[in-house]
Amino acid sequence: MVVGNWKMYKTATEAESFARDLSREISAQPGVEVWIAPSFASLVPVARAIRGTKIGLAAQDLFWEAEGAYTGEVSPAHLAEAGCGGVLIGHSERRRYFNETDETVSRKTAAALRHRLVPIVCVGETLEERESGKTTERLESQIGRGLEGIPAGEGKSIVIAYEPVWAIGTGRVATTAQVAESHRLIRKRISDMLSDTADGVPILYGGSVTPENVGELSKLDEVDGVLVGGASLKIESFMKIVRAFERRAAGE
Ligand code: PEP
Repeated sequence: MVVGNWKMYKTATEAESFARDLSREISAQPGVEVWIAPSFASLVPVARAIRGTKIGLAAQDLFWEAEGAYTGEVSPAHLAEAGCGGVLIGHSERRRYFNETDETVSRKTAAALRHRLVPIVCVGETLEERESGKTTERLESQIGRGLEGIPAGEGKSIVIAYEPVWAIGTGRVATTAQVAESHRLIRKRISDMLSDTADGVPILYGGSVTPENVGELSKLDEVDGVLVGGASLKIESFMKIVRAFERRAAGE
């Protein structure tokens, strides 16, 4: 699974044109699930551009209520009608700049599931937490509290993205050993919580993934895909990343 997070880049016109170009690149029988996450204002035109392809559409956030007097918010029902199949939840930029907490992550995850949107739940430690030996504690509490209240059977529709905060947009990628270790820990934690459905939960890595470093990451058994920010904004770099996972899916 390869997910492109476009953050607050690309106007609706630019996003639609990019999505049309991407549609031509993605084969009708992709070996990899490819998703794009444009800004709210671009969802409808992008949905139109990718109609009939296998590309998935995700939003970058949602609010947990279905409707109501919540000025500025976007509900799961709005996203579903716009054509979204999934939604990023608890991205570190949301946690850092918009006060998202594990509690809001849990409410948003439950709301996404209620509306049949795949929640792509982002977790990851800060540099300070890693350097003070608190990575395990932080990941365990983000998973434990973020997925609190999710019924065991619902686990099969969740995706987790491990994104060490210090690696996002910094050019500093985690080592393969660090990625593998954190993914194993997350797998164990979700197995404890979601029991039988946990094996099917894809765990993605995110943090400065580029065409240059994706080869190593795509070979790790613990990594089921990637969440890509900067390198998803250009077709050439995004497709190189998709192709690395296609090679893995083909057993090359
Ligand atoms: C992201 O936005 O989730 C991300 C990982 O960004 P970047 O690839 O630019 O580090």
